[in-house]
Amino acid sequence: MSKRAHNFCAGPAALPTAVLERARAEMLDYQGRGLSVMEMSHRSDEYTAIAEKAERDLRELLAVPDNYKVLFLQGGASQQFAEIPLNLLPENGVADYVDTGIWSRKAIEEAQRYGRINVAASAKAYDYQAIPAQAEWQLSHDAAYVHLASNETIGGVQFDWLPDVGDVPLVVDMSSDILSRTIDVSRYGLIYAGAQKNIGPSGLVVVIVREDLLGRARSACPTMLNYKVSADNGSMYNTPATYSWYLSGLVFEWLKEQGGVAGMEARNRQKKERLYGFIDNSAFYSNPIAPSARSWMNVPFRLADERLDKAFLEGADARGLLNLKGHRSVGGMRASIYNATGPEAVEALIDYMTEFEKERG
Ligand SMILES: *Cc1c(COP(=O)(O)O)cnc(C)c1O
Repeated sequence: MSKRAHNFCAGPAALPTAVLERARAEMLDYQGRGLSVMEMSHRSDEYTAIAEKAERDLRELLAVPDNYKVLFLQGGASQQFAEIPLNLLPENGVADYVDTGIWSRKAIEEAQRYGRINVAASAKAYDYQAIPAQAEWQLSHDAAYVHLASNETIGGVQFDWLPDVGDVPLVVDMSSDILSRTIDVSRYGLIYAGAQKNIGPSGLVVVIVREDLLGRARSACPTMLNYKVSADNGSMYNTPATYSWYLSGLVFEWLKEQGGVAGMEARNRQKKERLYGFIDNSAFYSNPIAPSARSWMNVPFRLADERLDKAFLEGADARGLLNLKGHRSVGGMRASIYNATGPEAVEALIDYMTEFEKERG
């Protein structure tokens, strides 16, 4: 048995140990074929079966309606910041964006290269510690779409509601909370998620897009970024990220064994209640986010005295509690508790935090 630390990394994040063991077992000789998944033609029967099963399982996990395409693309979530306007924003059109933190701002900055962007609401007035209520939003009357990030991975701010945008397609960056709790896919025009938080290895991005939004790309849109081309070619216009796709499929199988997204939701709710509850009951640790906007997946926290940060991180590392340093733009600590970081990791973290406070607080 190799030693597995408790990994609280924001991304690339922990993968389920059972998934890595399965990948190891299948590494040299996939199902008696005498080769690894990495070495297969993406057009082979074996690989086609792997790719199709991954898509089927993801559809089942999220109950994706039939009129949506599921795409397994490359370039991570950040590529989508350009791909979305190139496909969905007409040259003279306008798109509404909501600014709740660093990732939604990056999406805004990139989209501004391609057309008129209306920042319909910003959490800036709340120091990015709360989400503006829809009553404060200034939506355009003719927006091509409305974009938001459901979970701000760095700030630890998450929507616990969906805006009412009528018939306008809602486009959502779900990179850091997809598959963590149940959603109603039919309320979205397009969902995208970089894989390395809750799905699989980095580089891959999953896009779930309603079919009527295909075929709207600008003529200048690169072929590789055209959703319709990707959909028409089963995400294989060029060679896809075959191994990442396969590994994501193993994660989907694991999720189904764990009771699916509803099972994860129950577990994640319990994890975040434990950790925020502990922080709120402590005079030494704190989290500044408005309770209704607190992220289930990324929990930033501070020590009462930041001069103790270094000692806290060193002690954590020595105990196999890894990657707790907060993002450089926020400081302090951040515990990312995605699907693969289980309740036992949260308990180990709380034990350590309790002890550290007793000794140094
Ligand atoms: C990690 C992350 C991204 C960037 O993902 P890449 O795959 O590195 O491009 C974008 N949005 C959110 C919300 C993220 O958490």
